[in-house]
Amino acid sequence: MEVAVIGAGVAGLAAAIRVAARGDNVTLFEKNSTPGGKISQIRDKGYRFDTGPSLFTLPNLVDELLMLEGRDNANITNYPFKYFRLENSCRYFYPDGTVFDFFQDTAKLKEQIENNTDEDFDNILKRLKQSEFIYNLTSNLFIFNSFHKISNFIKKENRSIPLHLHKLGFHKSMHSANRVLFKDKRVVQLFDRYATYNGSSPYRAPATLNMISHLEHNIGAFFPEKGIYSIADSLYRKCIELGVKFEFNSLVNEILVEKKRDKRAVGVSVNGSSRFFDYIICDTDVRYAAENMFSKRFKHPLAGRMSRLEPSSSALIFYWGVKGNFPELDVHNILFSADYKKEFDYLFKKRELYDDPTVYIFISKKVVPGDAPDGCENWFVMVNAPYNNGQNWQEVIAKARAVIVEKIEKRLGIANINNLIEVEHIASPVTIEKNTLSSKGALYGSSSNSMFSAFLRHPNTLRQIKNLCFTGGSTHPGGGIPLCLASAIIAEKTIYDIK
Ligand SMILES: Cc1cc2nc3c(=O)[nH]c(=O)nc-3n(C[C@H](O)[C@H](O)[C@H](O)COP(=O)(O)OP(=O)(O)OC[C@H]3O[C@@H](n4cnc5c(N)ncnc54)[C@H](O)[C@@H]3O)c2cc1C
Repeated sequence: MEVAVIGAGVAGLAAAIRVAARGDNVTLFEKNSTPGGKISQIRDKGYRFDTGPSLFTLPNLVDELLMLEGRDNANITNYPFKYFRLENSCRYFYPDGTVFDFFQDTAKLKEQIENNTDEDFDNILKRLKQSEFIYNLTSNLFIFNSFHKISNFIKKENRSIPLHLHKLGFHKSMHSANRVLFKDKRVVQLFDRYATYNGSSPYRAPATLNMISHLEHNIGAFFPEKGIYSIADSLYRKCIELGVKFEFNSLVNEILVEKKRDKRAVGVSVNGSSRFFDYIICDTDVRYAAENMFSKRFKHPLAGRMSRLEPSSSALIFYWGVKGNFPELDVHNILFSADYKKEFDYLFKKRELYDDPTVYIFISKKVVPGDAPDGCENWFVMVNAPYNNGQNWQEVIAKARAVIVEKIEKRLGIANINNLIEVEHIASPVTIEKNTLSSKGALYGSSSNSMFSAFLRHPNTLRQIKNLCFTGGSTHPGGGIPLCLASAIIAEKTIYDIK
């Protein structure tokens, strides 16, 4: 079988590996000149910045791909991809001066919580247990299988889900569940933050998403020895080993559809010619695809629905090469805002940046020494931003930069940050949209700001168009590296009819 993959994002690469490992021929079309999509990197004056994801969870999903063997088991060198578990998943800074580490070791975490907050540590353990329960109960159906096939709902392993529906938290928001469980507002804010892992608001996203903390704390927050970009690079090398053919600088303009007895995808229009395939895997943003990659005659059947769904949040990121070493910062750091509710109202209601934003600082140099020159650090400084709705981004960026610099200086007691910055690159919703064709620069497709979001998210296949499936962060099961890798598992199950 000849299979085309459109887009070399992490899910497109994973799908290509899975199909090639089954012995079929894969051609991958990518509009950019390098693989990885949102997983990308910048190198400048001795600094290396991962430009997109920074948190790596469920690394076993990458291991599994790298261990797949090809059709003749030959030429498999098993590209070495090494990673380790971080000791501290994040350092939290609060407006009242509280600072603590969320250690992955339970005894050390207990000490941090008891010494720095008024929270009962048992409540934290309770939340992590609940998250584990929800993940174990639902991941087979919600993450690793198509959500749009009735047969998956009646599988033996999923039959007990209806018995526990009341425990899944569809009916309440993440924030209301956290507020009921935790007495310390700082801990509520910490657990509310997990809504941002899929670009949503904790005040509207269903409490089911509290399960995200299970991935980060029970299973663990990891980091690749060579930085996040090495995830995409390893998958790319694996594709090459398995014989996947890459056509870079190749924007697919249209998914060609034919109707004989039924409608089916038969090829792609790219670089001025029509190329025919037996199966198409589309790893582009689904809203972009629906609006741009189907002819008028064979319209994408869900285009209307896609355009009505609220996009997830986006981001404003400053990549700063900074002179100096800053022991007060760890790999992942959060400087919280004083009014989280207001911050999310600004993001999703006003679609503006809040003037006291939560600031995230990620420094890979802390664990990858080669990522910055000696005596310097590579700061990835990010604030959540609304999706691109035509705001004046130049103005927004200039204002946000000043606010962020002031906040870091005040909270960390560092003087004159501007004088320490020797390299600067900036990403905004506009550049994210331009680089990856993610509609409106949304990081994770549509938001999960409603109890119905999971049901409304784009399915992995369309009933109306055969021989076509969708992978990636804007389709089921959602955004983030692990879920994207899960979408490639679903693609494989779909193409090869694996029950
Ligand atoms: C700033 C930021 C921070 C993030 N933080 C995290 C994190 O900490 N942890 C985490 O797990 N996830 C994080 N994510 C999300 C994660 O990066 C994404 O969910 C994931 O990488 C998306 O992969 P994808 O396969 O959907 O494809 P994308 O990465 O969206 O790539 C799609 C590819 O398709 C190409 N393409 C699009 N249209 C066409 C076309 N018509 N023809 C040819 N090529 C086309 C694009 O050029 C692109 O290369 C973050 C994302 C961003 C941007």
